[in-house]
Amino acid sequence: MPTTIVWFRQDLRLADNPALRAAAERGAVLPVYVLDDTTPGAWTIGGAGRWWLRQSLEALDRALHERGSRLVLLQGDPGVALTRLAAAAEADSVMWNRAYEPFAIARDTALKTSLTDRGLSVVSHNGALLFEPWTVATQTGQPYSVYTPFAKACLKAPAPPSPAPAPVRLHTPEVSPTEEIGFDDLFPTRVVWSQGLAAAWSPGETKAHSTFTRFVADILEDYGDKRNRPDVEGTSRLSPHLHWGELSPRQAWHGVLAACGGAEALDPGRSSEVYLKELLWREFGYHILFHVPDLPTAPLKPAFAHFPWADDKDNRNAWRFGRTGYPIVDAGMRQLRTTGWMHNRVRMVAGSFLVKDLLEDWQHGACWFWDNLVDADLASNTLGWQWVAGCGPDAAPYFRIFNPVKQGEKFDPDGAYVRRWLPELERLPQPYVHAPWTAPKSVLAEAGVSLGTTYPTPLVDHGEARGRALDALQRIKHAA
Ligand code: FAD
Repeated sequence: MPTTIVWFRQDLRLADNPALRAAAERGAVLPVYVLDDTTPGAWTIGGAGRWWLRQSLEALDRALHERGSRLVLLQGDPGVALTRLAAAAEADSVMWNRAYEPFAIARDTALKTSLTDRGLSVVSHNGALLFEPWTVATQTGQPYSVYTPFAKACLKAPAPPSPAPAPVRLHTPEVSPTEEIGFDDLFPTRVVWSQGLAAAWSPGETKAHSTFTRFVADILEDYGDKRNRPDVEGTSRLSPHLHWGELSPRQAWHGVLAACGGAEALDPGRSSEVYLKELLWREFGYHILFHVPDLPTAPLKPAFAHFPWADDKDNRNAWRFGRTGYPIVDAGMRQLRTTGWMHNRVRMVAGSFLVKDLLEDWQHGACWFWDNLVDADLASNTLGWQWVAGCGPDAAPYFRIFNPVKQGEKFDPDGAYVRRWLPELERLPQPYVHAPWTAPKSVLAEAGVSLGTTYPTPLVDHGEARGRALDALQRIKHAA
């Protein structure tokens, strides 16, 4: 029976996994994960991501055991690791699901050639996207650079294939690999802040599915109205499961369509359609990253290369650890540091504060998010930060500068979100909870808040900061 190596990457699931399915249909399967810390230009997985990855690989290994198989762990250059593994296990084929990060494309292309030259058959599949970047184009054959027409084109395109079930049983190869390592070798250091991550999440395919089922049953109906509210459970919280591939976008897409009665029953502007369009933001991120590979490090709008960024380490640290004095920003940053996740609305507000109020380079924000998010994803994170900074595809207009107080009052009207993450403001009554410095002294005293001691005074005055940002933005606009 021929043996196929299945190289797992960001597709840590058994169901709707095209590479695994094709390999299982062919014969014996040797599942492997290679922790690649050698590829040049790679964005090394951040701290929170590593925590997630370990749990997710353990869950995948358990699921493989239930089907008579197991996961082989390796580390280093995937080319070397896979070549040796193929020789040791007498495998004649390697399969994987495609990745779209520029460094991954370069690595996989080279790897395909070198493995093929050694006589192995190499086949890659689409397991991560609804629409691969080269399949969606404008009428003139160009990539899209604006989200709305991109989403329209996707919605008009033939529907993504329906998800396939997991293989019931996997045949193991007769010859065992000689080299492999254990989980503790692969992840030698504990993520110091992992306690909060463990309290908030259970990585793995099983939990991804139960989260999705609960989302469809309990949250989807009001998603259109509540998805911008960080104080309620109004979104799916599936982003880390989607990033690590524990749930495929096809499973999410078709699951939501089934719940609303099919594509014909989709109502523009209603919750199900709104949700599918959010999934299309994820697709758009990959579309842009594929066509503009230096996007993670270079502003799409070249004028931003001349932006007069401030470079204030103290301000950056105050932002990172939730000590800016603006409650909605601080609550978000503490939610991020504790749980590895932040609500989308708050990502926008906190991001805008760093870039526009503090005039810090968006790349500082992108790197901090990269290390702290359990859903850290090169395409979505880059798109989000370039959007916030105003320098990206489909970016916010340069003069849109979020007012952190108004955003807090609008999207966290009772202050429940802020109070949850900033216990020092727990007793501050509603009219002041998003702007504690406006509260009378007696109210602060009664709430046990001492500004500058128990909670910071604002790092900058938002009105003045806004003026500074607009000046800087005007200057580069004229320079462009
Ligand atoms: P839902 O509202 O349930 O949305 C469904 C799914 O659609 C999400 O799980 C996600 O996969 C996708 N999605 C939703 N909004 C977006 C968006 N704006 N861009 C891309 N995909 C989206 N998302 C990441 O997955 N990884 C990141 O590293 C990341 N970094 C971001 C950085 C900034 C500065 C900003 C503004 C946004 C970022 N996002 C990122 C997008 C978004 O904030 C998260 O996808 C969303 O908060 C995840 O929560 P959810 O699963 O409950 O979303």
